[in-house]
Amino acid sequence: MEPFAGTSLTDQALTQGEVLATQWRVKADYAWDTGVAVGRFMAGLKEGKILGVQCSECNRTLIPPRAFCELCFRPINRWVELRDTGVINTFSVSFVNWDATRREIPEVPAVIEIDAASPGMGILHLLGEVGDNLDSVLAKVSIGKKVQAVWKPSEEREGSITDIRYFKLID
Ligand SMILES: [Zn+2]
Repeated sequence: MEPFAGTSLTDQALTQGEVLATQWRVKADYAWDTGVAVGRFMAGLKEGKILGVQCSECNRTLIPPRAFCELCFRPINRWVELRDTGVINTFSVSFVNWDATRREIPEVPAVIEIDAASPGMGILHLLGEVGDNLDSVLAKVSIGKKVQAVWKPSEEREGSITDIRYFKLID
């Protein structure tokens, strides 16, 4: 039974000239501008530094950096180097990759509140060295534990959030 009225196209119709067909390779290059705040944050990562900004109105130290304070609606241009340590705000144990394929070894994304930033300020990253199964991860990881960034060697850094390989637990 035909699902729809009309004549279905076949591979042969498309390749043998029975219908007009054309082929081309889409060239969809694009560039993405990080903006002034995130751009400088990324440049800091390349140097092995985690940079934040301070609002001169409310004195909060914000990370990720932003060009204006979302509470005071004031521009921000005071930059500060934060520490590469922090505290686990929340985390998840994921057995699914970004393309929905299954992982045997879980990935542990976490929000890290960065030390020297204001409370609640942090970045999303991965936890590492926490074991390769759910039981070992849950035995080690909990909210409030201290972590430290594990950086790529300087010659491998490229100004990306992945210049930090992951955060590991510290005492
Ligand atoms: Zn402010």
